[in-house]
Amino acid sequence: MEIEIATIGGYEEVGRQMTAVRAGDDIVIFDMGLNLSKVLIHDNLRTEGMHSLDLIDMGAIPDDRVMSDLEGDVQAIVPSHGHLDHIGAISKLAHRYDAPVVATPFTCELVREEVEDEQKFGFDNDIVEMDAGGTMSIGDHGCELEFVNVTHSIVQAINPVLHTPEGAIVYGLDKRMDHTPVIGDPIDMERFREIGREGNGVLCYIEDCTNANKKGRTPSESVAREHLRDVLYSMEDYDGGIITSTFSSHIARVKSIIEFAREIGRQPILLGRSMEQYSGTARQVGIDFPSDVEMVGYRRSIDQTLERIMNDGKGNFLPIVTGHQGEPRALLTRMARGETPYELDEGDKVVFSARVIPEPTNEGQRYQAEKLLGMQGARVYDDVHVSGHLCQEGHYEMLDALQPQHIIPAHQDLKGFSSYVDLCESEGYRMGRDLHVTRNGNIIELV
Ligand SMILES: [Zn+2]
Repeated sequence: MEIEIATIGGYEEVGRQMTAVRAGDDIVIFDMGLNLSKVLIHDNLRTEGMHSLDLIDMGAIPDDRVMSDLEGDVQAIVPSHGHLDHIGAISKLAHRYDAPVVATPFTCELVREEVEDEQKFGFDNDIVEMDAGGTMSIGDHGCELEFVNVTHSIVQAINPVLHTPEGAIVYGLDKRMDHTPVIGDPIDMERFREIGREGNGVLCYIEDCTNANKKGRTPSESVAREHLRDVLYSMEDYDGGIITSTFSSHIARVKSIIEFAREIGRQPILLGRSMEQYSGTARQVGIDFPSDVEMVGYRRSIDQTLERIMNDGKGNFLPIVTGHQGEPRALLTRMARGETPYELDEGDKVVFSARVIPEPTNEGQRYQAEKLLGMQGARVYDDVHVSGHLCQEGHYEMLDALQPQHIIPAHQDLKGFSSYVDLCESEGYRMGRDLHVTRNGNIIELV
């Protein structure tokens, strides 16, 4: 059976992930993501009514025109998890394919919300839920799709595997190796080891190189949870304002903040549209998440809530807000500029349970937000966080478990691939032979 892999997006950047695998006549697409930074750089750009070709030209969504060079039928569109760089282009591209979107329940719900706002294209693909550990047959030639449970900075992440008669194609974006996650099951390393040894083994492994330049291994989410507990407990006797900010899609982290806020005698309130969206979705699909926490999404209601907090005494509350990257329109930045009823006093605490995404725009905006907070006397606690991506020893362990015949580095630019290439070469792979460093829009023939 002929096997080809089209590396469509996310091979020159972090963002707009999209990869297609053709096995004989059957094609499976992994991810259809958005490069959000290409949208945000244009001030206040509304993408809902935009045509996909304009978004492709901006570099915001994958250029899927290479799909016409793959001869076969798309059988499934499979987002690995619910981050926007993996699902954010579904509303613009999925309608071109007569295939269902197959994902875990939380990811499916985020896809439904994402396509709801779409104004330009009609999305009528089926959305099929499949849990981690589930399998589904693909086409009529013996291919099967399997979801292997992984751990990442969003719940219900999986690595999809396409089993073909020539061996397994393992799509390895995005994960860390967490044996003590705060929500959900540990990463299923046992299954990865089995896949590496059964049948024809792993024909190809496509891997997320985000932290390949970092030594050691990525700590568990339970380490971030303990760090957060330590930071918030240290503030237990403080009776002024405490504000936290984190990734609103990071349900496990938001849950930890809610729990510790209550333990130090404060009422947590989720503020900001994306906070309300992701936490509301988590609650809706039955994820282990506090059901009784107040969530406020819209600006006017947020300002009313902040006014109530000021009147009741801000020492009784712990607002969990959007804006950990200093995004100009996010709530924390508005608070920093003094544009909300919430008043910061000398000694008030702001906890960033996130790291700055190392990109000049983010770094600049975050710097500005922190300076503004500092000018009002706030004390800033940075980087109460662990990454959602594998470091070097995690990558080594994955290669050891899967023993892939071919490797394709992904989820980075060329510079970001280099440390992963070094690791693979030290394990006996060779660039151009079985290690395929590639660009957006290429097709790699494996069999
Ligand atoms: Zn991700």
